[in-house]
Amino acid sequence: MSFNNTSDWLDYDKNHLWHPYTSMTDPLPSYPVESAQGVRIKLTDGRELIDGMSSWWAAIHGYNHPVLNAAVKQQLQSMSHVMFGGLTHLPAVTLAKKLIDLTAEPLQHVFLADSGSVAVEVAIKMTIQYWYAQGKKDKQKLLTVRGGYHGDTLGGMSVCDPVNGMHTLFQGVLPKHFFAPQPECNENGSTNIESLEKQLQSHQSEIAAVIIEPIVQGAGGMRIYCPQYLQQLRLICDKYEVLLILDEIATGFARTGSLFAYEQADIVPDILCVGKALTGGYMTLAATMTTAKVVQGISADGAGILMHGPTFMANPLACQVANASIDLLLASSWKRIIKEIEAQLDNELSTCQEYPVVKEVRVKGAIGVVELHESVDMKRMQADFVEQGVWIRPFNKLVYIMPPYIINKSDLSQLTSSIHHVLKRLTLNAN
Ligand SMILES: *Cc1c(COP(=O)(O)O)cnc(C)c1O
Repeated sequence: MSFNNTSDWLDYDKNHLWHPYTSMTDPLPSYPVESAQGVRIKLTDGRELIDGMSSWWAAIHGYNHPVLNAAVKQQLQSMSHVMFGGLTHLPAVTLAKKLIDLTAEPLQHVFLADSGSVAVEVAIKMTIQYWYAQGKKDKQKLLTVRGGYHGDTLGGMSVCDPVNGMHTLFQGVLPKHFFAPQPECNENGSTNIESLEKQLQSHQSEIAAVIIEPIVQGAGGMRIYCPQYLQQLRLICDKYEVLLILDEIATGFARTGSLFAYEQADIVPDILCVGKALTGGYMTLAATMTTAKVVQGISADGAGILMHGPTFMANPLACQVANASIDLLLASSWKRIIKEIEAQLDNELSTCQEYPVVKEVRVKGAIGVVELHESVDMKRMQADFVEQGVWIRPFNKLVYIMPPYIINKSDLSQLTSSIHHVLKRLTLNAN
């Protein structure tokens, strides 16, 4: 059985498929995509949308990239997948070496996970197993800051912001962790790290690790904070003997202007999670990296087995496209490119501040955020953007873009001017 036309399968989609964070009984409309090329997403009716989302931080080189396509095709010729239990392959080992070479020297060990959420689960397990093996069996809790996002599986959710992560709904199954306020920084480099330190001081014996997104908090609120906070955090984690997990699943691979955001604070995490842009948006793959200290620690109690092993661990197609994507990124002038995108976003979005509906405009690297005073009518605003020929997906009070790095000046201008257009309309309606 097949579908006769687009409206047929769109209807089927509406009645049978869940989309991210949607209702099955009252779904928001989904736009049918035919193909995607460069920074353009082509709908089945022929309309082309300039992509402002990089498919959630991932498609940094744009869509249908010849080099990435070739990497997948070539890997298909030899094998698309083999189990990673008891077997290994060059695509995975090459990727591990690239990741180790690109990140801070102490990060020497790699667990290839099949999604960002799983990479976070693995990171959490590593820290708990580490302390367990040291005889500190009470250290099973995490400490994090509000406004974070670390994934949709139960472990990841448990360290998402308790309010917008809907902890009440799942309170019977979610582990209870400790939360400090969102990072705040003053002009002079002083921060509100004391509240986090107080929590750590009181609960040191129960806390295994601090988990945080460095420099930019993504889906939990799109907030930016200063590197000083991370520097202080690193010192405090050492002082109170807890591990530091940095979740760079959104910020990794140059999005914030440095290859990894933690470089801006010049610190080294005990565990680093990467994902999203790792494969240039082609396939699902993530990685949890750690140090010899953590590895030795986990193995200190004899068996030393890390308790995780997904079926599709280290999928060779995903590894090879990740290898090609990393090579592409490194061969590009990414530093200059991100600086230019940042300057243009600054230039073209800062004036959004003048609309009374706007609370704050924030720009960091290739990320532009407009925070409104009120939550937006997502359906309406989404349709407005599509009408403007752009793909921008607002959520809650946030209208934000993180375009593919290959975007040119005029396409980026079209993204920012469509934001102006939508905000203007919203301001008129508010009066
Ligand atoms: C997206 C994201 C995750 C979860 O990754 P998935 O691949 O969606 O499971 C975790 N942490 C951060 C910071 C993210 O942005």
